[in-house]
Amino acid sequence: MPHETPLITTIVAGLVLAFLFGALAHRLRVPPLVGYLLAGMIVGPHTPGPTIDQALALELAELGVILLMFGVGLHFSLRDLLSVRTIAVPGAVGQISFATLLGAALGLALGWTLAASLVFGLALSVASTVVLLRAMQERRLIETERGRIAVGWLIVEDIAMILALVMLPALAAALGTTESIEPTPIVAFFGGGLTVALGVTLAKVAAFFALMLLVGRRVIPWILHSVAHTGSRELFRLAVLAIALGVAFGAAQLFGVSLALGAFFAGMILSESALSHQAAQETLPLRDAFSVLFFVAIGMLFDPMSLLQDPLPILITVFIIVFGKSLAAFLIVIAFRHPIKTALTISASLAQIGEFSFILAALGMQLGILPEQGQDLILAGALLSICLNPLTFASIGWIERHLSRSRMFRRFAPASAYSQPRELPDAHIPESEPAAEAREPLTATALHDHIVLIGYGRVGGMVGETLRSAARPFLVIEDSEKVLPHLHAAGVETIAGNAAAAETLTAANVAGASMLIVAIPNAFEAGQAVQQARALNPELTIIARAHSDAEVEHLRGLGADIVIMGEREIARGILEEVERRDSPAPQPAPAG
Ligand code: AMP
Repeated sequence: MPHETPLITTIVAGLVLAFLFGALAHRLRVPPLVGYLLAGMIVGPHTPGPTIDQALALELAELGVILLMFGVGLHFSLRDLLSVRTIAVPGAVGQISFATLLGAALGLALGWTLAASLVFGLALSVASTVVLLRAMQERRLIETERGRIAVGWLIVEDIAMILALVMLPALAAALGTTESIEPTPIVAFFGGGLTVALGVTLAKVAAFFALMLLVGRRVIPWILHSVAHTGSRELFRLAVLAIALGVAFGAAQLFGVSLALGAFFAGMILSESALSHQAAQETLPLRDAFSVLFFVAIGMLFDPMSLLQDPLPILITVFIIVFGKSLAAFLIVIAFRHPIKTALTISASLAQIGEFSFILAALGMQLGILPEQGQDLILAGALLSICLNPLTFASIGWIERHLSRSRMFRRFAPASAYSQPRELPDAHIPESEPAAEAREPLTATALHDHIVLIGYGRVGGMVGETLRSAARPFLVIEDSEKVLPHLHAAGVETIAGNAAAAETLTAANVAGASMLIVAIPNAFEAGQAVQQARALNPELTIIARAHSDAEVEHLRGLGADIVIMGEREIARGILEEVERRDSPAPQPAPAG
């Protein structure tokens, strides 16, 4: 690899290979994360072929961690957590303890120190936010009761991990396992005891929290609002990034708090602001790019040969993640009188590990606590458990049927285990890709000879209002969680989901409809909807929305009858106004 421009080489090689392997993984219906890790292994020092600068990759990965944690903070909702606290808090704590014990037992059996074994166990106990949210979204489970419990559970796990990340350096310093982290003067003054080290760390974290709550909570949203008023999108984007990175860096420099915790807190403070949704959107592209580099950097650390030489520990690690953790979660949820299906869904969603485990492993290694074998086992465990996760979900139905029939299970389980999970109405979420198993079905409409309206924003909203006042039978396909509640409240029939998906159009009975109005701005998705609708119903009148001549042509080519180009209508409206003002007022007819 050329070394004159190592930073560019690292970024380009990382992103290009991650893209190729991510796309391949997607094709094979495996989460792209697995592809990113594989890309990292290929450019890593443990495999033959080209190698990129590992130190640089790890530093770039830090940026990924900061942005990931900022995102976790932005989505952190105390209200969501409180609504499921009775099950999520004891559940997560119980499961973390059980999984940590199992992992620690394996570590001790491999001859590691107690500290190493505990860090290893802790890393196995926490599920990946990215993988869990993706799995839930694909199966439209987020807004179900099961989904909310799983997400609440995950938040508790995240908090536990954040605490672990904060405490680990202090623990390492106190245990004297590391040369890289010197005990701070205060710790050294008090004789470097463990309690003092932990106390000093907690005091620093508390000082940071206090500063953020007292000052940050006022200043940060104020900065964002002022910048939003400038009307410059670029400045707003920059402000969000500057806050995320600045607070993380400042927290690390001034308070010795980890970059991850600083970023999490910056996100959490912003999540209270009305602009948080936009802030999340603005950081998304960079967050995606750098979190991909994070996974690549982690893949680089992985030594596949070490596993081939000694496969038993890896099998046990995967067993702990997929079965040990799941069993604990399952039993806890059943004990809290929830149905089998709820217990199985939560267990399946948590039966994997990901970014938090990597962060913990990387820190454990850096502090000299965790041996290299531990990190390899965590990486292999993550790779395999993420690959197995769709299978785990697919097995839910089968296990549920068997348990329902099992006499032995009936004898021990409370009667509540046999009830159906309580679900919220219309608990649908847009799907990103097909995943047949364990998904909530869409309810098909009973309408016939009706109008299907796609999108209920600025354009579709006006169309819908008029259809409503004219009492025309119609339904709306919408994928925005923000818009759907308004439609429900107004009593408009809706299908929640992406109109580009065939099943959404089928549920809307496009085959039996008289007209389709495509009122969404994205011509690519609009084109997919038009094409599929035309195939379902050759007689359908399709009216679509476009923003350029090329889009008009594209949509016509795919089967739209009439395409209205927004910009042309705006120009027409303006010209009408000009004409109206220019034309002289009609002269009164001469008398006589
Ligand atoms: P506007 O551009 O203000 O007319 O808003 C477009 C509306 O269409 C928004 O409410 C979006 O949530 C919705 N929308 C955009 N793409 C899709 C899609 N593929 N499927 C369903 N709804 C969509």
